[in-house]
Amino acid sequence: MKTFDLVVIGGGPAGIAAAATASKHGLQVAIIDERPTLGGQIYKRVGPGFKVKSAKEVGKDYFLGEELINELENSSVELFLETLVGTIENSAVVIVRNGESAERLNYKKLLISPGAYDRPVAFPGWTLPGVITAGAAQSLVKTQRVNPGSRIFFAGSGPLALAFPAQLSGYGANIVGIIEAAPRPGIFKALRILLAVIGNLDLMRDAAKYQFHLISNRIPMTYRRIIVSANGKDRVESVTHAKVDKNWRVIPGTEKTVEVDALCVGYGFFPSVELFRLLDCELEYEESRGGAVVKLDNWGATSVANVFGAGDGTGISGSYVAIARGRLAALKIAAELGKISDKALSTLAAGYQRTFSQRTKFQRAINNAYEIKSGIYELADNGTVICRCESVKLESILPVLESTIDPSVVKAYTRCGMGLCQGRNCQRQISALIAQKHGIPISQITQATPRFPTKPIKLGQIADATVTSEKYFIDAE
Ligand SMILES: Cc1cc2nc3c(=O)[nH]c(=O)nc-3n(C[C@H](O)[C@H](O)[C@H](O)COP(=O)(O)OP(=O)(O)OC[C@H]3O[C@@H](n4cnc5c(N)ncnc54)[C@H](O)[C@@H]3O)c2cc1C
Repeated sequence: MKTFDLVVIGGGPAGIAAAATASKHGLQVAIIDERPTLGGQIYKRVGPGFKVKSAKEVGKDYFLGEELINELENSSVELFLETLVGTIENSAVVIVRNGESAERLNYKKLLISPGAYDRPVAFPGWTLPGVITAGAAQSLVKTQRVNPGSRIFFAGSGPLALAFPAQLSGYGANIVGIIEAAPRPGIFKALRILLAVIGNLDLMRDAAKYQFHLISNRIPMTYRRIIVSANGKDRVESVTHAKVDKNWRVIPGTEKTVEVDALCVGYGFFPSVELFRLLDCELEYEESRGGAVVKLDNWGATSVANVFGAGDGTGISGSYVAIARGRLAALKIAAELGKISDKALSTLAAGYQRTFSQRTKFQRAINNAYEIKSGIYELADNGTVICRCESVKLESILPVLESTIDPSVVKAYTRCGMGLCQGRNCQRQISALIAQKHGIPISQITQATPRFPTKPIKLGQIADATVTSEKYFIDAE
């Protein structure tokens, strides 16, 4: 068991920036990521056997990521890749490396930056093969050069609803249509975004570039429509979409059906707050940043001593905020461990604080313009699977909702959220159903009790190797 000054969970922009900064100031640092390469979501590396020949091919983010990864690899940070953190206890993270038994890494300070995951939405046909999240489609094409289909339809909301199809089309995908649930930004929303533009011109330029790509490639994009169903026998063959009102409720009679062989659904992201919840870090509710978000002070400290957070895993704020937050937390940790003075801390932090504030303003304006509305959670019918890990349909959940407002009770009665994904796919849908049924704001619905391990690990990897079945038998007697 080794003790590090700082253990960082998550090798995305937030974690890399934090680990590299802390190491630069003399801390002994470990960084852990379950993937084989660093970079997280936005800076994801291409898969083995692929080569990047030009920036044009993969976009500028790839090279921004390379710079950050180089900074880390040239430092003394100890890398733990293909290593999963299943839980955290007594100032130690419990890690499981590929195929090996669980080990503990002790920390003086811990920074959790596990990023986010695609927001799932249940509608009839959402589990058919060929229906995937927009993030998964991006990952497929980015790392493996695999297009999800030959007639691809995009449904979603938010700035990435524009970016994902443009990126995919850049790789030669045939996008037959895009629908955005929100209305085209009106004058007030546009003004709010423009007011936050200082320090964010690059992001406005990116958005304009994506829009231009869609227009010049004649890819139709329609506002105020959501996906109603994916249709097909063994896989998606067509999709039906419809016009929505201001709460994104379907306006009957406006349905249209399009033939497709792939549907990418991207209604934004949820922060991965599971590890924070296991540690009992205080959360708060902010719908525009993904619902339950982690309460942090200006330096990224959580409510639990020695535990910091950064990046989208604490609330959706984008990669620039993730990097600034990661560096600020690392500097504060360096100061708390006596590696830099308080004076040096304020001098070194000033630039990152400015970036943090400018980028946050912009991200908030964007997030508010595309806030998810409740109609999106009213699409399932009785036969729609809500929990895909445990195959639980809406019809089995509705009777339980009559007598409870607690997602843990729904979980216990129906097994909804008990499977491999531990509720990442169905938890929000359950909360929305409870909110709807009992007329309570979704922000007031508690989440099901978090359980270890947060992601699947083999029992053999956490078993005590000294305990054989024979010995166990004797002890039991
Ligand atoms: C699918 C997807 C696609 C996106 N595409 C874009 C895009 O095209 N453009 C854009 O501007 N933004 C995009 N974003 C948003 C952008 O990626 C994030 O803002 C940014 O990556 C946040 O950085 P982060 O360090 O907080 O998290 P991430 O980059 O997500 O990194 C988190 C890392 O933590 C690791 N991790 C999580 N849990 C564990 C655990 N228990 N044990 C070990 N490791 C763990 C993950 O493997 C991951 O590498 C996307 C986000 C997602 C989810």
